[in-house]
Amino acid sequence: MLNITSRLNPQTYTNHKHFQNISFLGRHPRMVQPDLVIADSFVKSEKIKKRDISVLNKQLVLFPLDVAYKKNMLINMGENPKNVYRLASVAGPQEFENFLSQHNADEDFYKPGNRPAARIADIDSHDMSNVQSGKYGANLHIHSVHSDGHLTISEILDQAVEYADKRVEKNGAKEPFYVAITDHNTLEGSKEALDLIYKNPQKYKNIKVVLGVEISAKTPEIKGFQFKKPRTTHILAMCVDPHEEVFGNYIKSLSETSHTVMHARYTTLEEIVENLQGNKNVKLGLAHPAYPNMKDDLKSSSRYKAAVLEMIQQFQRVTKDKGLFVEGYYQGYKDELSLDKKLLKLIKRYCDYLGLLKDGGMDTHFTSIFHSCSKWHLKK
Ligand SMILES: [Zn+2]
Ligand SMILES: [Zn+2]
Repeated sequence: MLNITSRLNPQTYTNHKHFQNISFLGRHPRMVQPDLVIADSFVKSEKIKKRDISVLNKQLVLFPLDVAYKKNMLINMGENPKNVYRLASVAGPQEFENFLSQHNADEDFYKPGNRPAARIADIDSHDMSNVQSGKYGANLHIHSVHSDGHLTISEILDQAVEYADKRVEKNGAKEPFYVAITDHNTLEGSKEALDLIYKNPQKYKNIKVVLGVEISAKTPEIKGFQFKKPRTTHILAMCVDPHEEVFGNYIKSLSETSHTVMHARYTTLEEIVENLQGNKNVKLGLAHPAYPNMKDDLKSSSRYKAAVLEMIQQFQRVTKDKGLFVEGYYQGYKDELSLDKKLLKLIKRYCDYLGLLKDGGMDTHFTSIFHSCSKWHLKK
């Protein structure tokens, strides 16, 4: 049995035991039509008993600096800031940073299982051992129907709840399961998640949701390399307030003249930082640093490695105190270059050297939050 309790916060975590039979793990993936998104916003907020309010309030006390972030979100939603207990399941910047530091060296925490060497090019070949043992603790990179994903927001949260509740049920642990909504160039997914949590906070008591967005930025110039065409680097912005105007209008403006958020114009790292002036909450991260978005230009692997490291360095230099993490434990790599063990090790060491935290996600696009993009897998 895996023992992770020693590394976890004793206040919120207790012993882990094996558990299995998460029902949706074996479910055959199916397509979800975007027009089937349930109009949850028409459902009224649930009434909550006093006793349950105090349970939710207790969760808020653990991260006192996040209360202001949540109260402001409520004001921007047109709701009463006194109802802040309703947002206990939203992870604010203090909790997010705390969580990332706690698991900085804990790669297994971000992996649903191991990928056998023989199927290493298949991004969804994880053996699910960490999901079955309950060690799997966070998927911080998920797309919904609001961009190019296939799950609705309520389906994403329902899958997370089902898994998280089973972890608690079977072993009595209070450990939350973390998910982040990171749709491409839109805050709509995070907005809907916020709405669902506000309306029915008790349902989500065993999960924590990071409200985010994945922004397409132009890959910065890399010293000594000439790109044949503009390349894109993906930047994760976490702990956003989807109703806040300055950052919200900026994100909207990226896809104003295109027909979908997938065709948003490439912004720049500088522009992202500029639009976060005065915003104390949003934390920036460099998504999938070894994604081979430059490989057509940089065919030699040593040049590619050098370029990846330089990109991380530029990310830190430009984002300064807003830049918090790099997706060092990304699970969606399938390319020969990006699966280079030496490169992946270098990235982690370089993050440690620069003082950037490492986190991980599946880059979920299909029908299970425990997978990356089974669509490609199924095609074979
Ligand atoms: Zn991406
Ligand atoms: Zn993504």
